[in-house]
Amino acid sequence: MESGRRRSLTVFDAHCDSLTNVEDLSVLLEERQEGHWDLSRFVRGGGRWQVLAVFTPPRYRGKEAFLFAVAHVEKALEWMEASSRHLRLILSKRDLRDDGRVGILLALEGASPLIGRVDLLRIFFRLGVRLITLTWNYGNELADGVGVSDPKGLTEAGRKVVDACQNLGIAVDVSHLSLPSFISLMEVAEKPVIASHSNFYSLCPHRRNLTDKQALQIARRGGVIGLTFVPEFVGGGANRFLDHFFHGLQLVDQDHLAVGSDFDGCTNPVYPDASHYADLDQDLKKRGVPITVRDRFFSKNLLKFFKSVLPP
Ligand SMILES: [Zn+2]
Repeated sequence: MESGRRRSLTVFDAHCDSLTNVEDLSVLLEERQEGHWDLSRFVRGGGRWQVLAVFTPPRYRGKEAFLFAVAHVEKALEWMEASSRHLRLILSKRDLRDDGRVGILLALEGASPLIGRVDLLRIFFRLGVRLITLTWNYGNELADGVGVSDPKGLTEAGRKVVDACQNLGIAVDVSHLSLPSFISLMEVAEKPVIASHSNFYSLCPHRRNLTDKQALQIARRGGVIGLTFVPEFVGGGANRFLDHFFHGLQLVDQDHLAVGSDFDGCTNPVYPDASHYADLDQDLKKRGVPITVRDRFFSKNLLKFFKSVLPP
């Protein structure tokens, strides 16, 4: 029962950019004045699991992109090792079990560091990367992003990398992916895929949002859509965000929606920082969303998704 007792919210957030937004990662352990995400605010907000992305800026290509991403993954690993009392790296299904620490799932946002090579993917897997957003807004060796003017489907290298991701146990993320690349991905993907930080195009016609057809395809294949707080993709403030939630609830149902804030990857998110998930929970409660549905939205759906994708 919900009434009486204070609800203990547990949150799994599918996208955050702090790793490549902050020079000295040690500042993320304590409450800081700038930015949206740090461990202190995240835990206070109910945070238990966070996908942290290494975003490789598009000015880096080829070996430069690889070196940039490897260096940032190493920096993240050092940070987590130094903070192992508070943080644990999620490598397998087993690591999703709650042991009191915040679970960090390492991601690459944009696959340019792979230079289209499966052996480099395997290196990132060995380093602990468990989610790859295939493109950022531009194209790379694997696929075309939403900013490409005449986008194509997955390349041959893209198909091989997707195949290898699914065999190794790396989640494939379609946020930022162009429609032709999305369509060809869905032809070859055998495991569920995720849209880690996208909303609904039918409510906010932005190129970064998913059409209803895309959302349904993701859901039918057992995937998850991480609704994002980016105001440009919401098309308004917190109230409009709730409209996206209810649209998703009707369209793909309660089993396929999650949170993908994009904290530290945007300006003026509709919920201001990682200590404010409870505000969203309250807003949903006020609009009559039952606790079982909210629990799925805030963590259970992502836990289930990663259990179906990660290595045992
Ligand atoms: Zn992004």
